[in-house]
Amino acid sequence: MSDWKTLDSANPTEEHSMLREMVRGWVASEVEPQALEHDRNEKFNLGLFRQMGEMGLLGITAPVEHGGAGMDALAAALVNEEISYSDPGFCLAYLAHSMLFVNNLSRNGSEEQKARILPKVCSGEWVGAMAMSEPDIGTDVLGMSTTADRQEDGSWLINGRKMWITNGCIDDEGTPCDVVWTYAKTGVDQKGRAEISTFIVEKDHPGFSVGQKILDKTGMRASNTAELVYDDCRVPADALVGNPGESIIHMMRNLELERLTLAAQSVGIAHRCVVEMNRYATEREAFGRQIREFGQIQRHIGESFAEWRAMHAYLYDVARKMDVSSSGQRLDSDGIKLVATTMAKNIADRAMQVMGGYGYVGEYVVERLWRDAKLLEIGGGTLESHQKNITRDLAKDDSVLQ
Ligand SMILES: Cc1cc2nc3c(=O)[nH]c(=O)nc-3n(C[C@H](O)[C@H](O)[C@H](O)COP(=O)(O)OP(=O)(O)OC[C@H]3O[C@@H](n4cnc5c(N)ncnc54)[C@H](O)[C@@H]3O)c2cc1C
Repeated sequence: MSDWKTLDSANPTEEHSMLREMVRGWVASEVEPQALEHDRNEKFNLGLFRQMGEMGLLGITAPVEHGGAGMDALAAALVNEEISYSDPGFCLAYLAHSMLFVNNLSRNGSEEQKARILPKVCSGEWVGAMAMSEPDIGTDVLGMSTTADRQEDGSWLINGRKMWITNGCIDDEGTPCDVVWTYAKTGVDQKGRAEISTFIVEKDHPGFSVGQKILDKTGMRASNTAELVYDDCRVPADALVGNPGESIIHMMRNLELERLTLAAQSVGIAHRCVVEMNRYATEREAFGRQIREFGQIQRHIGESFAEWRAMHAYLYDVARKMDVSSSGQRLDSDGIKLVATTMAKNIADRAMQVMGGYGYVGEYVVERLWRDAKLLEIGGGTLESHQKNITRDLAKDDSVLQ
């Protein structure tokens, strides 16, 4: 522990530093130049996404033997942070694929499922998604109405609709993604609660289709969001993940990484907004002075800088301790998502205020980040669900407060 004082918590090993350097360079040269156009046109950049397969980023936490990079939660956080510095919308498509599908399969799938599917999703040949939300339910997961019924031959018939599914379609023509981690109700347990089971639905399974691409979102417009339809969708017996009724375990194992990486998106947004408002405050003059000399502008920059530093430190403290193979970090994965998402939204708002009229137009970037930031307070769990979870978890175990 001789070097603990110099430890860089966001890049604790040489491997993490090299990964950050590689992703940062690629983001500057490939991601930044296309971000505004893809936001404006509501287009997902499939070619850019596939580059990430070549770079080994799509399976960042997946096992090496199946084509993944075998890295940890901190690596996943830093990739999401770096991409969101330039393009949070594109990053959301990456997150839905790599955290919500690939990591889920890596942690919960059978050896046969992993061997068959992981190489395709780690390379980018296949695009994946995760379908939990429905038109009538979001937070209340156990209230879902999509059902799956086992048939005599062992196959399953899935019926229902899923809503808001990132990567659900890959283009404007409604072409579905290749594979969807789908949750469906398969019965009720002994206590009368919904029994939820997990199915790997592939685009060629009969009865599976895209209902609609959801257009005109406030932000995150470079990722596609779709409604998915399961109309007597027949999937084979081996599409079931684990045993019936095990989805809660699957959700618990994946949720923490999902929330950590959504928080990492917020940190990337906040970083960029601090950079932009700081630069602008030097370049812009009013009343014969740089605007950074005005006390009210100093308050915007000072508070934003300090909040960005605070969220960054909390993010990497949680990331360092998180084990992607197990659960047990919900208190802090909800904690970092709760504070980082609102801080990023507020920092983007202050950046726009500092930049005046220029902040309000696309060319100056913060307008897009301001719109993107809001989704992070809703997706992957709303602020209210994090408040509820934190308070519940502290009632069970308050050792962190001692
Ligand atoms: C752009 C985008 C991408 C998304 N991507 C995906 C995806 O890939 N896969 C997927 O499955 N879903 C996805 N979602 C859905 C997202 O996860 C849900 O929107 C979110 O979980 C909230 O659900 P809801 O919209 O149904 O709101 P609701 O759950 O209906 O909540 C409405 C309001 O009521 C509050 N509320 C609900 N219950 C309680 C309670 N018990 N106590 C206090 N307040 C409560 C909520 O906090 C919220 O403020 C996406 C959504 C968007 C907008």
